Amino acid sequence: MNFSDLTSFFKEQDLEVSGASKLFNWHYKKKISKPCEMKISKKSLSLVNENFDFELPTIDQALESKDKTVKFLIQLKDNTTVEAVLIPFYKKFSLCVSSQVGCGMNCSFCYTGTQGFKRNLESHEIVGQFLAAWNWLTENRPAEVNISNLVFMGQGEPLHNFEAIKKACEIFLSQHGCSIAAQKITVSTSGYLPGLKRWKDEMPGVNLALSLHSPFKEKRDELIPINRKFDLKDVLAEIENIPLAKKQFVTYEYLLIEDFNDSKVDAESLGKLLQGKRAYINLIPFNPFPGSHYRKPGIDRVESFKEVLDTFKIPTLVRATKGDEVLAACGQLKT
Ligand code: SAH
Ligand code: SF4
Repeated sequence: MNFSDLTSFFKEQDLEVSGASKLFNWHYKKKISKPCEMKISKKSLSLVNENFDFELPTIDQALESKDKTVKFLIQLKDNTTVEAVLIPFYKKFSLCVSSQVGCGMNCSFCYTGTQGFKRNLESHEIVGQFLAAWNWLTENRPAEVNISNLVFMGQGEPLHNFEAIKKACEIFLSQHGCSIAAQKITVSTSGYLPGLKRWKDEMPGVNLALSLHSPFKEKRDELIPINRKFDLKDVLAEIENIPLAKKQFVTYEYLLIEDFNDSKVDAESLGKLLQGKRAYINLIPFNPFPGSHYRKPGIDRVESFKEVLDTFKIPTLVRATKGDEVLAACGQLKT
């Protein structure tokens, strides 16, 4: 439940509405999952016990990489599994969460895509990844418990599961809940147009990232098959419609694959396409996985690509690869 649903529930049950904010506070801020440990009125407690389930998804495995990245294999109630990844930066963590079991978009460069679509996650399973990761840090790295940022860049296409990610974000954002600021949450999409159409009204303030990967139709069709259905022009036009805060950008992710989309011509076309937009480019050198036929370009190629973009004055960052020795980097999640 988001906070307003919970408040309505308390009202319907003739309970003090303040109980709803207490409950949210205990569960999402203090991270307590046993109602008996929450200091709420007896009547509230018995109703809570009767009506709510606080069980979190379980961490089946945690793989720690030398750079402090932690990849979790998370088991859900129906025994399906998803992955979530804690990514360290400046003594804090960013948590990369999954939105679906598998993914139906079938992108040719993505390990998750080879799994196919199993099912959508429910909002509690998305927020559950956050709480489970938080509890893991508390137990295993008590000096480092700080998850300040969230990225929807794990398994699944988040906008294909809009209702659930929207509700999960409401809980993440709620001041009574996790209190994470909208500018600390980023949702990445392959360009799922029906979800983008809802963004402006239903996800205000949250950061958006588009997996662009090529300005050319033929190449993008090969990489991201839904490009055939949702034309890039329409996707970009829809994104232009989204109002941005003062210092806010849209991130455009660009996967670099050797001898496929890493040439000067590719970089120039990308620059032309994004010139004048409130854009930030994230270059992601392809992360290989078993069975993939694409290759990662050398650092020189990546640097020259970035130099071309610099001439267009578009801020560009090369995404550092973290956690690849435990297959936790972008595109390497296959449960
Ligand atoms: N489904 C969403 C979010 C999950 S994927 C999306 O596609 O945007 C998160 C990011 O990882 C995307 O930009 C995706 O293109 C990228 N990615 C997928 N496979 C990759 C790989 N093998 N190497 C590098 N990045 C990859
Ligand atoms: Fe799904 Fe994103 Fe992987 Fe494409 S890149 S298959 S949309 S998770």
